[in-house]
Amino acid sequence: MSLISLKNVSKFYYSKGVIASGFTRVNLELNDGEFVAITGESGSGKSTLLNVISGLDSYEEGEMYINGNETSHYTEKDFEDYRRKYIGNIFQSFNLVNSYTVYQNIELVLLLNGNKKKNIKKNVLELIKKVGLYKFRNQKVSKLSGGQKQRVAIARALAKETPIIIADEPTGNLDSKSASEVLKLLSEVAKDKLVIVVTHNYDQIEKYVTRKITMSDGRIIEDKNFKEINKNDDIKTSNYKNITFFNKIRLGIRNAFNIKVKFILLLAVYLFIILALSVEYASFKNDEYIVKKSGINAYLFDTSDKRIILTKKDKSSFNDEDYNKLSKLDNIDKLVKEDHAIEGDGLSFYDDTYLYMYGRIKNYNEFNKKLDYGRMPENDHEFIIECSDNSNIYDQNYDQYLDKEFYLDTNYILSQSKNKEKYKLVGIRFNGENSADDTIYVSDNLIKDSYKKGIYNMSDIFVNINNKTYKLYSLSVGSIIPLNKVKEGTIIVPQILNQYCKYENCNNKEVSFNVKNRYYEDNLSLKVSGVYYNKYSYRNLTGLDYYDEFITEIFINPNDYNRLFEKGYFQASVYVNDLDKFDETIISLNNLGYKTFAVKDSLYVEDSVAIVQILKVIVTVIIVVVLFVISYFVTKVIVKSRKIYFSTIRMLGSTKKVCKKLLTIELLVISNIACLIFAGILVLTNLGYIKTSVFVNILEYLDIYEYILLFFIINTMSYVISLKYAKEIFKDSAISTLKGDN
Ligand code: ADP
Ligand code: MG
Repeated sequence: MSLISLKNVSKFYYSKGVIASGFTRVNLELNDGEFVAITGESGSGKSTLLNVISGLDSYEEGEMYINGNETSHYTEKDFEDYRRKYIGNIFQSFNLVNSYTVYQNIELVLLLNGNKKKNIKKNVLELIKKVGLYKFRNQKVSKLSGGQKQRVAIARALAKETPIIIADEPTGNLDSKSASEVLKLLSEVAKDKLVIVVTHNYDQIEKYVTRKITMSDGRIIEDKNFKEINKNDDIKTSNYKNITFFNKIRLGIRNAFNIKVKFILLLAVYLFIILALSVEYASFKNDEYIVKKSGINAYLFDTSDKRIILTKKDKSSFNDEDYNKLSKLDNIDKLVKEDHAIEGDGLSFYDDTYLYMYGRIKNYNEFNKKLDYGRMPENDHEFIIECSDNSNIYDQNYDQYLDKEFYLDTNYILSQSKNKEKYKLVGIRFNGENSADDTIYVSDNLIKDSYKKGIYNMSDIFVNINNKTYKLYSLSVGSIIPLNKVKEGTIIVPQILNQYCKYENCNNKEVSFNVKNRYYEDNLSLKVSGVYYNKYSYRNLTGLDYYDEFITEIFINPNDYNRLFEKGYFQASVYVNDLDKFDETIISLNNLGYKTFAVKDSLYVEDSVAIVQILKVIVTVIIVVVLFVISYFVTKVIVKSRKIYFSTIRMLGSTKKVCKKLLTIELLVISNIACLIFAGILVLTNLGYIKTSVFVNILEYLDIYEYILLFFIINTMSYVISLKYAKEIFKDSAISTLKGDN
């Protein structure tokens, strides 16, 4: 039984509908111990024959036997197996891994065949000695001469310990001296193997061969045996295992760094993707933040993102101790005690010539800017105004307003009476801002008055008359108005109220009030000291000069009014210094016994703005996809240059699966280095060594989950590219890649 035997084997090539013959009806028996030279003119089918014998190419007709076994039914996997067990290849163009050292090239075969690294060192060095390259063992192969390279290839073919060595024109690229040395070496080292050498320089090899086969036009025309060969039925094949896990990792890492230019280019691509993704994301978040900040809350006037509104958990009003605690707290920029002043409706002022102004109120003690006209207020009846661009007061007509007396329109009746209180506008500032409102700066007392009015407006007021309780507004009376002329403990009521009192007369009757609002609840009983029926009784009781028949107000002494409505401030606002510490500030406020309301979390973004945000998301997605595609193709080009490497290791007995794994590990190593560099940059940024705004922004807006996601994306991309290009690499057969056909 022969080692290899071919019976009427033919090989055709089909390309573009044309059938070309590789070789036709070849009959051949090959045995171990033979040193066979195949010669013939170019194109006669020598390489094709070798490729079929090597299991690199299929055949169409006849039957090839390996150790007596038919191969026509062999699958790709079977041939992979066969190559690993039987075949060592040597090529005209060496097909070494140029970026590896001599040692690494030979070690590679043994690692791919499942040996442990530490077990093979001696073996590798022995082989290197055998081919006379010990001195060059740590030299990169790319620096060797052609003859030396072919010696490495011989050592590598021997390392596999296969029974067959196939060499296709191994001396084709060598000068004649190197060529004869290589052939001599080959004949020496491969004594008991089957060696098949293709050459068209037969003279060089003549003295070593045991057999000469000549081909012409795809047929064997001569087959001469010079020596009787003893057939040996006990063929020793290479015993290989699969590459170990650690050696896969080892080779993957070696390949990652092996070719510096490739490493740097891939690293640059990955870094570029990481940066592009994170910069894009951070700037998107930044936009989102700005949009959110510009959002509105229909119930709040001051929607500063730094503002926190406070109430006390025990529902009591704020006292000096509270204000003290709050102003001492960390990260508090400003404390506003009169919180309603920020949110209240503001105040309207009129004068008798119908000049009118409206503004949100603030305490004039808070005003620290420069006035354009006039001076600061000096008492409760003076105020100043800060005008926006939309004000009714403008620069040219300011003197119509300045130093004029105005009255408040808090109550129609009071504002109509002759003895109403007057307030003088003593200073004006134009701030040039395009805001909706002016700001009116008034005294503490006026702020308190408007606050009281605010509490009155927000309260549910119940009235108990003659043991029955009514809501104030259901009694058809007007509002409760504080008036000095009314005696403490009493009220003056309109005639309309009589219907609810015993005997339809309210005079001297008890009326009790119950006030409920979101801050407190309180009761007060008062005695009716007068009922007005007409102009005369009204004027007599109230001392007010203006009267009309629709007046139905209840008048009360200011002290009693204060008992019901002046209970102190139940709400305050603080403004933080540093938004980064916002959450900590909320926690310490909670710990101090305050309920907090973060204004920035209550803002509502208008639909049109939200749509712009959605568009931005779409644009961001498109940019990211484009980046991905670009990087993908750049990586593809770079990975393509690895084709020769992977074809080479396939020749050496690596399976597709192993090649895929090696490529995956190689790319993952590089993508993770890119991640590490990125992490390093961020750490340096965090420590303040890097101040570039791009990185500062990233640090600001990305949190741990997003970093994890980024890490995941980059590594997935690495993985996908490796799978995709492993496929691409294997689309062409290994042999056509090595022959440089594509
Ligand atoms: P040699 O090695 O003796 O120079 P080859 O074995 O390379 O010759 O080629 C034998 C014949 O097969 C030639 O006619 C060649 O054109 C043809 N051939 C070789 N490879 C291919 C291929 N991949 N596709 C089509 N024809 C091919
Ligand atoms: Mg050839």
